[in-house]
Amino acid sequence: MKLSYGQKDLRPSLKHRTCPICGSPRRRLIYKQHFTGSTLLSGYHVVSCANCGFAYADMIPPQAAFDRYYRHFSKYEYRHHGGEVSANDLRIFERLADFICRSGISPRSATLDVGCATGAFLHVLASRGFKNLHGLDPSPDCAKTAARLYKIRVVTGTVFDLDRRHGRYDLIMLTGVLEHLCDVRLAVQRIVDRLTPNGQLFLAVPDVMSLGSSRNAPFQQFSTEHINFFTATSLRNLMAVAGFERIAQTRMMRQQGAGATEPVVGGLYRRAARMVKMRIDCQGHAALQRYVAASQDADRRTRRVIANASRGGKQIIVWGVGSLTQRLLAAGLLKASAVEAFVDSSVRMQGRRIAGRRILPPAALHGRSEPILISSWMFQEEIFQEIKQKMKLPNRVIKLFNRVYM
Ligand SMILES: [Zn+2]
Repeated sequence: MKLSYGQKDLRPSLKHRTCPICGSPRRRLIYKQHFTGSTLLSGYHVVSCANCGFAYADMIPPQAAFDRYYRHFSKYEYRHHGGEVSANDLRIFERLADFICRSGISPRSATLDVGCATGAFLHVLASRGFKNLHGLDPSPDCAKTAARLYKIRVVTGTVFDLDRRHGRYDLIMLTGVLEHLCDVRLAVQRIVDRLTPNGQLFLAVPDVMSLGSSRNAPFQQFSTEHINFFTATSLRNLMAVAGFERIAQTRMMRQQGAGATEPVVGGLYRRAARMVKMRIDCQGHAALQRYVAASQDADRRTRRVIANASRGGKQIIVWGVGSLTQRLLAAGLLKASAVEAFVDSSVRMQGRRIAGRRILPPAALHGRSEPILISSWMFQEEIFQEIKQKMKLPNRVIKLFNRVYM
């Protein structure tokens, strides 16, 4: 893909996407999402295709901007755990591996995991007797970690780099990848070109239909990284367009840290003997509308908590500069004028600016008296412990979320 950035403005131009599945330009608006201070994008429109019903983020930068982002800002290296995934992630990989083994896929299959991060899923398959295992990931650090931890060879690159040099595989897996891609159909084309004639494809994505029973920060699914919102039907449609049929399907709830959950739908696909007809996805649009309403409802409390924290023009310090903070700033729930400084434990963020304020390392908090607002759902308690137990800071600490623990 050729980049066509202007000489002065390095930001890629935003364009309408046609439907990533059926190609239709007709769309219905569900929600406009905005971010302040994201290195990747300033927001997008969540829309659904008026033809096939698939929901996706419209008005986003081109694929090349996402490729750059994942090469440089990968969160999937799990650096703070020495490259090892959490026990929760290991559990979901085990359940997905159970599904793959139950579906009768031979452990002798030449297997490629696209977007494999540090190779944990491949490692789980190795423990089930799979021997011919390969990984592909855009982050060079992930390849090093996979070799060190699991002795699994991971090639650095994106799904769009896949070509003849990579050989062919009996099983290609993409777990938690398709929801991040701008050019979904091109990605599918690259993958199916690398499959042996009887090869199978395993795809797993967040399941829009079950968002109502999941737990996380409001609007978390509309993060800076998620730009496609699949249902089982739209996933099936994507593969139908490529001439593939679904032979098995699974649904599960992925446990994340601190009681957060994300619904996952997975499917196993193979080349179809005859044309597979698309089915209109009539439910995704309404499911996302319900999700928006529930998120807006949760935001009302967030607005009150922030207003209380900065009552009387008090300046606060905000810990956390992720999607949540970027969204709260853009939506006006968090006013930059009320923030003295931002803090983040990620070294990559420190020294940068968000909404004109510097992002400081946690150590910079010693000796400051402002109240600290924790702006994270997933790490709220972890950050609270760090402030109170490890750093022993006397500051007043405000939590955004009143959560019930599981
Ligand atoms: Zn469509």
